[in-house]
Amino acid sequence: MKNIYVTSPLLPPLEEFVPYLEQIWQNKNLTNGGSFHQQLEAELARYLGVKHVCLFANGTLALLTALQALRVTGEVITTPYSFVATSHTLLWNGLTPVFADIDPLTYNINPDRVEELITPNTTAIMPVHCYGIPCDVERIQKIADIYGLKVIYDAAHAFGVKHQGSSILNHGDLSVLSFHATKVFNTFEGGAIICHNERTKQRIDYLKNFGFAGETTVVAAGINGKMNEVQAAFGLLQLQYIDSAFEKRAALDNHYRALLAEIPGVHVLTVPEDTEWNRAYFPIRVDNTYPVSRDELYNTLKKHGIMTRRYFYPLISNFPMYRGLPSSSLTSLPQANQVAEEILCLPIYPDLDFITQEKIVAIIKAPVEFSTVSLDEAS
Ligand SMILES: *Cc1c(COP(=O)(O)O)cnc(C)c1O
Repeated sequence: MKNIYVTSPLLPPLEEFVPYLEQIWQNKNLTNGGSFHQQLEAELARYLGVKHVCLFANGTLALLTALQALRVTGEVITTPYSFVATSHTLLWNGLTPVFADIDPLTYNINPDRVEELITPNTTAIMPVHCYGIPCDVERIQKIADIYGLKVIYDAAHAFGVKHQGSSILNHGDLSVLSFHATKVFNTFEGGAIICHNERTKQRIDYLKNFGFAGETTVVAAGINGKMNEVQAAFGLLQLQYIDSAFEKRAALDNHYRALLAEIPGVHVLTVPEDTEWNRAYFPIRVDNTYPVSRDELYNTLKKHGIMTRRYFYPLISNFPMYRGLPSSSLTSLPQANQVAEEILCLPIYPDLDFITQEKIVAIIKAPVEFSTVSLDEAS
């Protein structure tokens, strides 16, 4: 059996991409806000139901620039339960991440913990809509309003997610998307900042182009964060396939939920009410009533060619390079630590089929039995 990875990129038929490339070769406009770039910004804004989209070469550059755009300083309260890029961008901006514990049901930052960690140096909150599940946006905004803090959502997982009928990206001051190959919507590499007014978009557009506001005017120490025309063209094509990809993901998600129901010690993600979710990931939690440990299950699946991922393990705050932060940054994080020990993301992507899912779940149902099957028998 071929290895099954946790994800596989959405790739439209190659021949449909060729005309886009021909157009780029013809007009020789490769980057710097070309026509595909402009068109993708407009089409994404319409598709997602947001005011303004600022495209970037990748999500990490978009996060870095979002912090610059809002002139964030001092301490930023964030979640330890995320991909390292979230807090790396704080360090790259000379900011101090302060880690708040998470909610054990949504795996998102717990607003109660956020409030406890605010100091006179706190200027912003950077939550993550983990796995595309919405944060408690109302409570986070309330706290931000009371204490005068900015809110930047790392929405790398949240493409297409709606909360109470409107895009989750309309919350906070800014939201940042990633279009990396592993995400639900990809442009090979890519990302975007979502903002709510023309002036902020203008500032972000300057910042992503070295700070140029005109041929001879530089208004800030900007960076080169621009998305190129090949990426943007691919995004336009990809957008035509995204709804069918979401439908396939929904069917796969339902199938997993049916197959995994009532396996002792295995828990699936609860989707909050009033949420239109994108099924970006399929995380399960393996608690201490399950016959083997999470890592043993991970290794058994791997032996059978099923490459699951421990997203997110280790916790960001447990990486050695984060250990040097002031003790005020490394608060007690019991929930996040426990989830990181129990989480396992199963394969989910549009081309996955029900039969493969059934094979995966058969192993999860009998982890001890399958752990002794030799590699030959398994192949
Ligand atoms: C993927 C990801 C990023 C980084 O995005 P890139 O486009 O890969 O730079 C940031 N935060 C989270 C939570 C992610 O999953």
